[in-house]
Amino acid sequence: MSDKISVSLMQELLQEAYDKIKNDTGGANANYIPYLANIPSSLFGISVCLSNGEVVEVGDTNYAFGIESVSKVPTAILVMKQYGAQTLLDKIGADATGLPFNSIMAILLEKDHPSTPLVNAGAIAACSMVKPTGDPNGKWEAITDFLEALCGSKLVLIDELYKSETATNFNNKSIAWLLKNYDRIYDDPDLSLDLYTRQCSMGVTTRQLAIAGGTIASDGVNPVTGTKVFEAGISPQIVSLIATVGFYEHTGDWLYTSGIPAKTGVGGGVMGVVPGLMGIAAFAPPLDSAGNSVKAQKAIRYIANKLGVNVFGHKKFEIVQ
Ligand code: GLU
Repeated sequence: MSDKISVSLMQELLQEAYDKIKNDTGGANANYIPYLANIPSSLFGISVCLSNGEVVEVGDTNYAFGIESVSKVPTAILVMKQYGAQTLLDKIGADATGLPFNSIMAILLEKDHPSTPLVNAGAIAACSMVKPTGDPNGKWEAITDFLEALCGSKLVLIDELYKSETATNFNNKSIAWLLKNYDRIYDDPDLSLDLYTRQCSMGVTTRQLAIAGGTIASDGVNPVTGTKVFEAGISPQIVSLIATVGFYEHTGDWLYTSGIPAKTGVGGGVMGVVPGLMGIAAFAPPLDSAGNSVKAQKAIRYIANKLGVNVFGHKKFEIVQ
């Protein structure tokens, strides 16, 4: 027996989650990147993209916020697509660090690899590996083309965020050069860091992130555009990376309470993936101590628990009209 999910049920549930959580005052905007500190804290949106291509949403779902670390997922997929899943494992790794996203200690403790493409060190290494298109700006073009295919629409760089982050990313500079010391970065460190900083500064909406999650949930076929973005064979590895470290040092607590592999960013966005069923995204700027949006995680957890959707559970779902 499978439970039925319809657009109207999802719409009601998203509204219920939104109404319950919208006045939550927990957390604070990221303050180490000046642009993010100034984003209106009350913004809040939730979007779901079902695997049949239906998108359901509530709140500020058309506001383009900084994608930040959610961008680590598309670039990791691109590297897997270009080199294969094994090369990503060999050159970067797939282990959780258990330490903050920008930890230098994690690199020192695990000299042989940056651990996972979903923390800063591994993400900068992933950017260094991207194979360029034929364009003179080829690596950047490869990253943005892939991100847009995953989201199913154009994304715009938030120039002010890029400048703000470039002017203040001293910790990330140390990470890039420390990787060089260990031969774990595969192109010029400054250039690779610039690609990483730029990808983090792309503006994205919850609608676009839900569609990106929906594409991962649908084995690489974008459920809205119908485009095949990557080979189905790498989907389980992508979801395993997200499940392992998507919420940084709070990942275990998150998975235990929500059952949905999800990736957060300090811009306030969260993208969750339920293989075969849906992508789900939420956005609200105030963050907890690990850099994860307080309201976005509450919203996704509420919806998952209410539906009984859990990647570790047995419940089956059928999408109906
Ligand atoms: N660009 C941010 C940084 O490197 C991303 C951090 C995040 O979203 O977790 O610090």
